[in-house]
Amino acid sequence: MNNKQIRLIREDFPILKEKIYNKDLIYFDNGATTQKPRCVVEKMEEGYYHLNANIHRGVHYLSQKATEAHETARNTVAEFLHAAKREEIIFTRGTTEAINLVATTFGEAFCKDGDEVIVSVMEHHSNIVPWQMLCERKGMKLRIIPMNDNGELKLDEFQQLLNERTKIVSVTHVSNVLGTINPVAEIIKLAHFQNIPVLIDGAQAVPHIPVNVQELDADFYVFSAHKIYGPTGIGALYGKEKWLNAIPPYQGGGEMIQTVTFEKTTYNELPFKFEAGTPDYIGSTAFAEALRYVQKIGLNEIADYEHALLTYGTEKLLEIEGMRIIGTAVNKSSVISFLIGNIHPYDIGMLLDKLGIAVRTGHHCAQPLIDSLGIPGTVRASFAFYNTKEEIDVFIEALKRVVGMLQ
Ligand code: PLP
Repeated sequence: MNNKQIRLIREDFPILKEKIYNKDLIYFDNGATTQKPRCVVEKMEEGYYHLNANIHRGVHYLSQKATEAHETARNTVAEFLHAAKREEIIFTRGTTEAINLVATTFGEAFCKDGDEVIVSVMEHHSNIVPWQMLCERKGMKLRIIPMNDNGELKLDEFQQLLNERTKIVSVTHVSNVLGTINPVAEIIKLAHFQNIPVLIDGAQAVPHIPVNVQELDADFYVFSAHKIYGPTGIGALYGKEKWLNAIPPYQGGGEMIQTVTFEKTTYNELPFKFEAGTPDYIGSTAFAEALRYVQKIGLNEIADYEHALLTYGTEKLLEIEGMRIIGTAVNKSSVISFLIGNIHPYDIGMLLDKLGIAVRTGHHCAQPLIDSLGIPGTVRASFAFYNTKEEIDVFIEALKRVVGMLQ
C-alpha cells in the first residue's frame, strides 16, 4: 500500500483526527481494540434506524429483513474464515465467550478426572482461566507448552506433552504480548496424529493475516469483531460440524430450542443450538461490514504493509539506549513489546499519553507469561494498517524525550 492509499484509508477513521491534550492522536493500541471505519458505524446506524426488529420469530417485514441481514452476516464470517458450512459459525460475545463455551461444553461431554488440557505459556488469560476452571471442576491437569528465548513455542516439548490423557489443545495463533505467529498448522497436525482436537485463539491473528480454518484443519477457531475494526460485544466461534453436534448447548433459553415442555426440551439445530436469547443482530451486520472492509483492502496487502511497519518500528526502537525488545520471533505480527533500562513500563505509558500517544502497558492479560520472563510488564505498541512510518518517527522522538525525563 502506498502513502496515498494510507491517506485515503485514514479518512475512513474519523477518530484518527482527534486531538489528545492538544496533540495529534497516535493510536498504537490496536492489539487491545481497533478503531472503526465509518462504514461499520454507519451499518449500525442503518440497523437501528431502518432495520430494527427482533429476528427469526417475526412474520413481519422488518423482522424478516433483520433476520436476513443477520444470517447473511453469518455467511460473511464463514467465507472470511473459509469454513466449509455457515452452520459452523456461532456468534458469541467475543473470543472470551467462545473459549468459555468450548471449555464448558466440550469439558462436560468429553472430560473426566485425570484428563489433561494443553495450553501454551503465552496465552491470554481468556485462554487459560476457562480451562483452569474446567480442570478444577473435573480434577484435570493443565499442561503448558514452553517457549524459547525469542518467544517461539518449543514444538518438541509440545510433542512430549501429548498423551492418551490429553483431551484438547488450546493455543493462540498470535501472541498479544510477543507478536509471535505460532505454527498452528503444525501444532494441529501433531495433535491430530493422536486424535486430539485443537482450539485456536485467533483474536490477534485475523486482523493481520489471512486465515483458512479448513487448510489449518482447526477444530475450533475463535475471534472478536472489535479487534478487526468491527463493533464491541460480538465475535465468532468456528467449530467443525462434527464437534458442534457432539457437544451440548452452552446456555438455555429462547431460540436454542426445538420444543419445550416442562418434562423435556429438545434442542435446535446448528448454529442456533448455541445462540440462546436475542442475538446481537445489529452488531453482526456491522461485524460483517468490517470483514468486507478489510477484504476490500486485501488481507495480504495488510499483512505486507504492517510487516513493513513492524520492521521499521523495531529498527527505530533499537536505536534507543537500553532498549530491550520482548519477543523476537522470526515470524512476528505488528506488535512490539519493550522495556527501556530500569524504567517502569507504566511511567513510559503515562508520559507518552501526555504527548498524545496511546500504547498499552502492564501484563496485557498474560500474567503467567510476564511472570515467566521475570519482568514487571512491558510497553506495547501494536500497529494497524492505518498507522504510518511518520507516526513511528513521532513516537520514537517522544520516547526519547520520555526516557530523558525518567532517567
Ligand atoms: N486472546 C487474545 C490473544 C487476546 O489478545 C485477547 C484480547 O486482548 C483475547 C483473547 C480476549 O478477547 P476479548 O476480550 O475480545 O474476548
